[in-house]
Amino acid sequence: MLSNVPEQFNLLFLSTPVGPLGSGLGGGVELTLQNIATALTNQGHQVTIVAPDGSSVSSQAHHSNLSVIGIPGTLQQTAQHQGRAEPSQIPNNAVLENMWDYARQVQHDYHLLVNFAYDWLPFYLTTWLDRPVAHLISMGSLTDAMDTIIQKTNDRFPGTLAVHTHTQAATFANSDRWQCLGNGLDLSLYTFQPHSGESLAWVGRIAPEKGLEDAIAAIHKLNIPLHIFGKIEDIAYWQRIQNAYPDAPIHYRGFLPTEDLQAALGKCRGLVMTPKWIEAFGNVAIEALACGVPVIAYRRGGPAEIVQHGTTGWLVESDNVDGLAEAIAQLDGLDRHACRQQAEDQYSLAAMGDRVINWLTDVWISHHELRL
Ligand code: UDP
Repeated sequence: MLSNVPEQFNLLFLSTPVGPLGSGLGGGVELTLQNIATALTNQGHQVTIVAPDGSSVSSQAHHSNLSVIGIPGTLQQTAQHQGRAEPSQIPNNAVLENMWDYARQVQHDYHLLVNFAYDWLPFYLTTWLDRPVAHLISMGSLTDAMDTIIQKTNDRFPGTLAVHTHTQAATFANSDRWQCLGNGLDLSLYTFQPHSGESLAWVGRIAPEKGLEDAIAAIHKLNIPLHIFGKIEDIAYWQRIQNAYPDAPIHYRGFLPTEDLQAALGKCRGLVMTPKWIEAFGNVAIEALACGVPVIAYRRGGPAEIVQHGTTGWLVESDNVDGLAEAIAQLDGLDRHACRQQAEDQYSLAAMGDRVINWLTDVWISHHELRL
């Protein structure tokens, strides 16, 4: 065992190249990265975030140990809309390439690099860099090219891969030794609201894999208002949904910063989650619980590991709109205090920070042992 493990790590975080931090284009990984940065700077570690130009961290994440470097270049396409057999593509003058070129140049100022991008290049580059790279994989298996490079990285650098849930890990082969980190929130930013209005909430990127149409079909049957929060990623899809349900009582509220999102979400009777893919985690589930809002979700992916069926929400057979409607009708039997309690017990930021630093410490130790 090495004795010289740094007490304070100096860490370089490489963000998702699909959008600037704060834009919403990156989905849950934007909040996750900022939360982990906050958790680790609170512990005294130093974090530098490399992210596409135009990035901003939320005011809560500001800390003297935290800095952000903006990098220019063309944004990356999101992997979730690619076919399984499609090749990984890198656009001309890619921000992904430029971010990792920057990392190569400054790597010796850091103990460790942490990759948050679900892209082929950072996995490939792991072998070529002097400093160890830890990879937090933010989605389930999507393409053969990604599966293969992730597997090669796993074989060559065991212990460097982490995921959010067991269900997510199970979409990949040979993933039983990967770190399962769950997730965590700064719960002080989410106000518990013991009482709610009539409306339901749906929160997420508006894109086909999120299945918004099923939530709308369910509330349409019941004639209960649905407030929709999130980035419109696929405009044509959003148009199709609106055309399909012209009379549904839906209210699009836009993409809100966390402070406003939690205030509005907390007023809702329940959050409806209708993923059509294996959601790796589902940050919005724990954000709702933190506000005291029960979660109705398809029994698929991360939400199925989060929701305590019958206590903090209802899990519904996947793609069953009638089941969603029945669960919505039973929302009032759930105790909003139990929701907040679950968030406090299982999803605190400090506990997430401990899990992450233990993982990074192991990665650092393995790297130095290999080099001895
Ligand atoms: N979000 C937000 N404002 C909004 C709607 C969503 O900040 O108005 C954020 C939310 O906090 C969450 C992310 O968008 O962190 C969605 O992440 P999730 O893990 O649920 O799904 P993903 O987009 O990663 O598939």
